[in-house]
Formats: sequence, structure tokens, C-alpha cells
Amino acid sequence: MSELGFGFLRLPLLDKKDEHSVDYAVLNLMTDLFIEKGGRYFDTAFTYLGGASEEAVRISLAERYPRDSFILADKLPSWLIRNSEDCRKIFEKQLSRCGVDFFDVYMLHWLNEVNYINAENCGGFEFLEELKSEGKILKSGFSFHDSPELLDKILSKHPEIDYVQLQINYLDWESLAFRAKECYEIARKHGKEIIVMEPIKGGTLANLPPEVKEFFPENKISAASAALRFAKDLPSVKYVLSGMNSPEQISENMEEFPPLSEKELSALKTAAEIIRSKTAVPCTGCSYCSGVCPVQIPIPRYFEIYNEYCRNPEESWKIEHAYSGLTRNFSRPSDCMRCRLCEANCPQKINIVETLQKVSRTFGF
Ligand code: SF4
Ligand code: SF4
Repeated sequence: MSELGFGFLRLPLLDKKDEHSVDYAVLNLMTDLFIEKGGRYFDTAFTYLGGASEEAVRISLAERYPRDSFILADKLPSWLIRNSEDCRKIFEKQLSRCGVDFFDVYMLHWLNEVNYINAENCGGFEFLEELKSEGKILKSGFSFHDSPELLDKILSKHPEIDYVQLQINYLDWESLAFRAKECYEIARKHGKEIIVMEPIKGGTLANLPPEVKEFFPENKISAASAALRFAKDLPSVKYVLSGMNSPEQISENMEEFPPLSEKELSALKTAAEIIRSKTAVPCTGCSYCSGVCPVQIPIPRYFEIYNEYCRNPEESWKIEHAYSGLTRNFSRPSDCMRCRLCEANCPQKINIVETLQKVSRTFGF
């Protein structure tokens, strides 16, 4: 039976432009509600919200609850380490930011072809084992964004790993780009327990186009619950992470439902086909791209506006207004220098440069 985990990536902010402006009045309410409803698993990472996520773990959780009442997972940024000393330095900083003296789960963050080689060269896997023997972490793992072939290779070389964190949702399940089902099957073949990330695909599966909404009559099941249930029902899934940012979302997501029926699963498959045909850019809003952009283009915000424009062309005037507002305060899509640093960081494999050009052409500047 899987459990819902509270992902500290998209936290409520007082100022949307400032990722350090965590709204603790709301976050503390959410943490309390999550724990009151039986939640235990919290997930953060060194790079989430530029470090503010780990601080939020300390302020909202570790300083307010006994250490044995929650399970805490953190991640080592596999692309930032250059040697084993870096691993140790970052780890110690994470413990101090989170206000704890051990992590229940500690993972190499974001393994793909490039980051995996770096993690191997820097002794990342050995470091995890070292921490386990010191009692500073209880379980090891890695989050993964690449092909089932690479996953198979890593798990064959590192059978000592306890957990694999995979992006699984009903939209990506049979997608040729993400191959979520194949990755899931590889993890199971190696006997691993799975932690699911992005079960609602950054909110995409909660904000559905009108044609799809009819599949989820509100009095029976919400679109977000259906997406969570899809992931929660899969065997070998231990935790399903949800990046909730209001107490209402916590209440809704923590509700218990029976497993999806065959009929409901087939409705999700049809819904996925319609959503795919309606979503212009499959961006989840994770912001991994904008963090490395030398001209600081708020890429996910432009993609969100563009998706809205494609979904609701009849409301284009409202959306154009939002677009001009954004260009007044931030760099524009047309400021892109085509360095492609963002694309190397995008877990959704979006062709960001060309898409930004398309966005710029659509809005005329
Ligand atoms: S390619 Fe463009 S959007 Fe991407 S990081 Fe470079 S300048 Fe920024
Ligand atoms: S473009 Fe990619 S990296 Fe950037 S926010 Fe969207 S999904 Fe994340």
C-alpha cells in the first residue's frame, strides 16, 4: 500500500517572483494538516527554491515535530559535485539547513546519461554507502530522468540502491518520449521500491481541457485524485509525491479511494490522448531551466501563458495582457541567446529554444 508524500518543491510564496518568500502561515497549516491526516513522508532537495525548500523543512517541520514522527528524503545534486569532498560538504550543509542529524532517504538527484557519469566519477554511489554505514542515512536511492536502458545499466551496477524515484503519471505512462511504463518495469525487475514524482505532471492533470473534464464528475472523483490514484495503485510504489501548495489540496489528496476500476483506467487512457493533443508544451513548471539561463528568461511562465493561449484562443486578449506584463518585468523569449543550457536541464526534454521562438512569434514580440 503506497503513501502520499509531501513534495517541498512548489511551496506557497508571498511573492511569486521571490522563491525565498515562503508563506509560513500557510505552509505550517499544510504541514499540520498533512501530519494530522496520517502523512509522514516529506521530500526536498538541495536546489529546490534555491535552498529555501530545505530551510522550510527545518522551520515548518523539524523545529515543530519530533524527529521520529516524520520521514525525510533529501537529494544530492549529481550535476554540481566534482569530487567526494563536494559530496560531503553539500551533505553537511543539507543536514544543517534542514535542522536534522540524519535523512531517512538520501538520493542522487536527477540521474541522466551525463549526470550519471559525473556521479560515478565523483564517487557518488560510494558516498551513499558511506553515509549508510555512518547511520547518517537509512535508505539510498536516485531520481531518474532518462531511458529504461540506462536505468537497467545503473541498477545492474548498483544493486545496493534501495529506492528509485521515477516520473510516473497516466499521461507519460505510454509516451514514447518518457517511457514511464518501461522504466517502472525495469525498476520492478530489479526488485526496487519506487517513489513516484510528478503524478499530476506539475498540475497539468488537475487543470484539464473542457472535453476531458467530463471524465471526472466532481462529486465522484476529481481530476487530481484520479491522477494520484493511478500512481498509488501500482504495485511496488512506496511513496507518491505531490507538490501541494494549499491546505485544500492536502485535504483532497489525502482522501482515501478504492483502486481505479478497469472502466476508470480506460477513461484515463482516452483522457490522456485528448490532453496530449491539447497541450502545446508539456512543461511541468519545475524551473530547472530558468535557474541556469544566463539572461534569466522565466521560461516556465512563458510556456504556461502559451499553453493557456492554445487551450483558450477565445480568451486571447486576456492572455496577451499577461504576456506583455511579463515581458515588462523580465527578459523576453526573444532575448534567448540559444546557448541551450536550459535544454540540458529539462527533465521533460522540451525543445526550449524553438518553443521560445514560437511563443515570441505568436505574441508578436
Ligand atoms: S538557450 Fe536561451 S533560454 Fe535557454 S538558457 Fe540559453 S539563453 Fe536561456
Ligand atoms: S521547460 Fe523543462 S525544465 Fe523548464 S520548467 Fe518546463 S519542464 Fe521544467
